[in-house]
Order: sequence, then structure tokens, then C-alpha cells
Amino acid sequence: MNHDDIAAPHQLDQRLARNRLSRRDTLWLFAAASSLGGLSSGCSTSPVTGKKILVGMSRADERAVDKEHAPHQFSADLGVVQDAAVNNYVADVLQRLRPQAQRQDVSFSARVLNANYVNAYTFPAGTMGVTRGIMLEMQDEAQLAALLGHEMGHVNARHSAQSQGQELITTAALFGLSVALSDSKWSPLIDLGGQIGASALLARYSRSHEREADALGQKYMVAAGYPAQGMTQLHELLLATEKGKPNILETMFSSHPLSQERRDTAARLAETAYAASLSRPNGRERYMDSTAGLRRLQPAVLACQNGETALSRKQLPEAERQFAAALRHTPTDYAANLRMAQCKHAMGKLPEARRYAQTAREIYPQEAQAVKLTASVRLAQNDPAGALADLQQFDRLLPGDAGAVFLKGVANEGLGQRQAAAKYFAQYLKSEADDPAAKYAKKRLADWGMKP
Ligand SMILES: [Zn+2]
Repeated sequence: MNHDDIAAPHQLDQRLARNRLSRRDTLWLFAAASSLGGLSSGCSTSPVTGKKILVGMSRADERAVDKEHAPHQFSADLGVVQDAAVNNYVADVLQRLRPQAQRQDVSFSARVLNANYVNAYTFPAGTMGVTRGIMLEMQDEAQLAALLGHEMGHVNARHSAQSQGQELITTAALFGLSVALSDSKWSPLIDLGGQIGASALLARYSRSHEREADALGQKYMVAAGYPAQGMTQLHELLLATEKGKPNILETMFSSHPLSQERRDTAARLAETAYAASLSRPNGRERYMDSTAGLRRLQPAVLACQNGETALSRKQLPEAERQFAAALRHTPTDYAANLRMAQCKHAMGKLPEARRYAQTAREIYPQEAQAVKLTASVRLAQNDPAGALADLQQFDRLLPGDAGAVFLKGVANEGLGQRQAAAKYFAQYLKSEADDPAAKYAKKRLADWGMKP
């Protein structure tokens, strides 16, 4: 997409100076700052081209990528579920697969995340995320082993390192998604859409990489004692999701023309090379027992999925209805409270937005996104001092978020603290971002006669 299309709202700076921001202003500011997590000065990343070139990635480089990016991606995916049973279970299945991995220098780990959409991913040094959305789609342990095996395959084959010079870590993908979902040049929902399917910090693998990861994953799971049809069934459930609920499928498995072919390949191997494994138990009971806590949330997760789809289509009343249904089922769900706050914010219902964001903060005090959302609502309520306090808290919870730096500049500008604002804008520009927020920051510095 062309970021020139989403310039700052006209005369934003003047409204900011008068401490009279419009809803559109704050949505723009928040969106402009929402997708840049994980940029640190000194890494050559351009959010516009979406390219982060990791040339000749060493093992230490791989670990650095995990360390730098995984916390931001996990936060965008609404944090790790606070359910020890399910996290321990996934870790346990991963450990069963572990001896099969060729690379014994990697310390694999997997977390279940609160995101509602259907996805799983890995960072190059083996830090994996599995959404609760996909956990609820899977039905047995063999399917989970296939999923984790596939991700392990990417790590083992060092697909990220091989992708060097390509679009390895991309924020453009995130913007691409949200813009594809909007019908105007500028949608006030860009921030919401962007956050729903945020795989922005992850490698995009080629088709041959996906095929190879499938083959490795199936090999690992069979060697670990699982029946090979787990991989076939995993592809089948992803194909069914692709067909029935395409909006919630944002996954490395989503490679449309290839999906059927990959399912067929897995089925063929299951019936030939791995035929001896077919009669093994699939671990359905263990899977169901270990995910019982998650499964109780299923109606809330499904309502959240519908709400996110409606949000991305700018159907705000429908989104509001769905999140309300989710909250009726599970009032203490962090994700549902956060999404409701985003929805109310987009509707201009600021006190309600603030209340839901506050509830989300109380549910998961260690999670950063609700704090950033409160900052955004406070800016909209013309409370830049409160927003600044929230942004500082956000920074403590999730250090290294470039968007928060930008917003701190904005909040200071709102407070009339030009020097501090200039400092943050200059710091933001050091991340070499070339996006709407950067344009805004550059213009402010120029207006004030300062050099970026
Ligand atoms: Zn993959």
C-alpha cells in the first residue's frame, strides 16, 4: 500500500495544541503508532517497504530476533493464556517431538496465546506461538503434534535464514491485511484490523518452505509415536476454516492454491511411508482433558471471532453485539474486554471504551495492549497527561515499542511541552520509519525549526 494515502488528518497539530482532538485524530494517531512494535534504533527496518534484511543470519542473530520480536508479537496476540494446564500440555507435546529435531542447539518453546484467530507460528530460534483460536479447532494430540512439528520443521531447516534478503520480517503485511479489509483510502479501523491478524513480525515462507516443513513435521510426529493422519487432519481443518471462516484464518498455512495439495501429500505419505503408524492412538482424550479450560471459553471465542470480522468490515453495531455476547458468556475474558474497548473507541463511546480497557487491564495487569488503548482513549478525552502516564506504563511492560515513542511525542505536544515532544519525535525518526507517523513527526520538527 501507499502510505501517502493515509496522511494525518488536516490541522491535527492545531487541534492538538488546543487540546481538542477529534475521534478521527486519535484513531489516526493510535493506528499510526500501532504496528511498529519491536523496532529498535540500530536495526535497519523500514515499515513502509516492510523489509528487515537479516543478511547472513547466524544462530546468535536468530536468538536475537526471537528475543526482540516475540514479546511484541505475543502482546499483539493478546498475551499468553493464563491457563497453566494448557500451556504445560503444549510444552509437553513439544518435548515429545524434541528428540526428532536435527538442530539440538535450539531451545524450542511454545505458548498458547489469547488471540481468537486461527494461527500458529515460530520465530527463527524456536519461540512458538499457538492461538487459542487454532487450539479450539484441533481435536486431538496428533493434530497438535503435526502443528508443532511443522513449526519445528521451519526452525530446523533454517527457513528464516534462507529467506535473507527477502521480505523476512514485514510490517507491510499487516498494513496490507487491514487495508484490504477497508474500502476507503483511510479507514479509522485500520488499527483494529491490523491488530486482529497481526503476523507482522513474522517471516513469510515460500511454498517450497511450507512443503518442506510439512514433510519434516510429519516425519517428527510419526517418529515421536503419533499416527501420521494427524497431519492430514490438520490440513483438513485448516481447509475447512479457509472455506467457512476465511476472515479468521491468518496463518502460515494459509497459502490458498497449495492447501489442497499439501493435504493430499500428507494423506499420501500417511497411507504409504507411514502406513504402520495409522493404528496408533491419536491422544484425543488427553487433548480434550488438557484443553477443557479453553473449551469452556469456546462460545466467547467464537463471538470474538465474529466481532473481529465485523470490526474489520466496519460493521460497528454488529461487532458491539458480538463482543457483548462474548462478555455475557465470559465477563473476565481479557480479549473480549479489549476488543469491546476498541469497538467502543471506534464508535466514539469514550467513557465506555475506557471502562472496558480498564477491566482488561485489571484482568491481565502484565499485558500491555490494554494500557496503550487506555492511552489512546485518554488522548481522545483530551487528557494528554493521563495518556502520557499510561504510555510510560506501557513502555515498562513492553519496552522497545516505536509506536509508544511516537505517542509520547504526541502527548507531550498536547501538553504544550515542545522540547519533550521534539525529543520523542526525533527518537522515533531514528527507527528509520517512513510511515504516516514519521511524516507527522518530521513535519512537527520542521515546523518548530528543529532538525530531525
Ligand atoms: Zn509453515
